[in-house]
Amino acid sequence: MAEFTMELNDEQREVRDWLHGFAADVIRPAAAEWDEREETPWPVIQEAAKVGIYSLDFYAQQYFDPTGLGIPMAMEELFWGDAGIALSIVGTGLAAVGVLANGTEEQIGTWIPQMYGDATDVKVAAFCSSEPDAGSDVASMRTRAVYDEAKDEWVINGTKTWATNGGIANVHVVVASVDPELGSKGHASFIIPPGTRGLAQGQKFKKHGIRASHTAEVVLDGVRVPGSCLLGGKEKLDERLARARERARAAGGAGASPAEGPGRVKNAAMATFEASRPAVGAMAVGTARAAYEVALEYAMTREQFGRPVIDNQGVAFQLADMRTQIDAARLLVWRASWMAVSGKRFTAAEGSMSKLFASETAKKVTAQAIQILGGNGYTREYPVERMHRDAAIYTIFEGTSEIQRLVIARTLSGMPIR
Ligand SMILES: Cc1cc2nc3c(=O)[nH]c(=O)nc-3n(C[C@H](O)[C@H](O)[C@H](O)COP(=O)(O)OP(=O)(O)OC[C@H]3O[C@@H](n4cnc5c(N)ncnc54)[C@H](O)[C@@H]3O)c2cc1C
Repeated sequence: MAEFTMELNDEQREVRDWLHGFAADVIRPAAAEWDEREETPWPVIQEAAKVGIYSLDFYAQQYFDPTGLGIPMAMEELFWGDAGIALSIVGTGLAAVGVLANGTEEQIGTWIPQMYGDATDVKVAAFCSSEPDAGSDVASMRTRAVYDEAKDEWVINGTKTWATNGGIANVHVVVASVDPELGSKGHASFIIPPGTRGLAQGQKFKKHGIRASHTAEVVLDGVRVPGSCLLGGKEKLDERLARARERARAAGGAGASPAEGPGRVKNAAMATFEASRPAVGAMAVGTARAAYEVALEYAMTREQFGRPVIDNQGVAFQLADMRTQIDAARLLVWRASWMAVSGKRFTAAEGSMSKLFASETAKKVTAQAIQILGGNGYTREYPVERMHRDAAIYTIFEGTSEIQRLVIARTLSGMPIR
């Protein structure tokens, strides 16, 4: 029987220290500048590519760490450096995972290298699912893909929003409805190759935080892509749609998709989300830890009333709570990541739990850090106000905190709670 340990092994420690070095020496010093510029930090992505942090190989290696801790460890360190820059570095991964999860071997081999480019010519990719009227309610997606059999092409029309790297990506992965009657069961994912006509960037958003990460609308106007751009291929899609139609008929209506009923937590997509959510939790842990460290250092050196401010329980206890919550968040993230890699069933939505707790912790801890730094905390002379702005994203993207609570409550009760 395997020995229980909560210690990282030598290899993991080595990778963590290497990533920490990159985050401390390259990412953190660039953070304030790119936050102000509100632009994609291409030179930093290029540096990451040069040392091997910006590549599918690197994330695949972390993903295949048998303990499950490779990805959360990498996320925590990079986001400790800076959330906006780190999202610019890992954002392509969202689209890559979309292809890895649904694509054929040929699609994976063709498109993923084009998502990253190489160290001399780095590229990024975008994953476009959200729409103006379909955020949490993914099933109400309006973007439509219609098959043109004569030309073996798909014609895609619609507007995507809040897409990380949307419009500046070399490759876009777009989720569209191929059968609106089936709700989210009628969705399929498509590759939009570089330079495809009809795809355009809409407005680029000016944001509260993670401003070094590009977020924009993507407009799809009569976009035509070859049949080979449907992820997984037509045969697989037709089989999947036939099964979904059959189940819908058996359940008594086309709209009665499992996403809307108590069986929701059992479907495959939900299992995938449970496995991917801890990665976002780990990003939040990174930001929270960064702000906590700044606050601890400040509280130990800033003197008022003739003594360091940490010499007051009111300040010291806040730091004690901050660190306790960060460590608790990391443990939830690690538990869910270990469950995902060892094929354990998420019987209590442990992935959602980790994302919920870690993201709420990051918001709280970064606000406390501002308080501990007093006036300095409120200025851009110190990084904690940026970290607080950045932290607000974790309770919103990849499923809001309310949606995480909904998933947890449904999983615990088996009831279709609304
Ligand atoms: C910076 C940024 C980057 C993003 N990157 C991407 C990306 O790369 N690709 C992509 O596809 N999307 C991306 N998103 C979109 C993101 O996933 C959505 O914003 C998120 O899913 C929430 O959707 P919404 O904004 O429409 O909020 P809404 O769904 O409109 O929710 C509004 C409020 O109502 C609450 N609410 C909604 N439904 C319920 C319910 N049933 N019960 C209780 N409360 C509820 C929500 O929790 C929230 O507080 C990004 C968003 C941002 C801000």
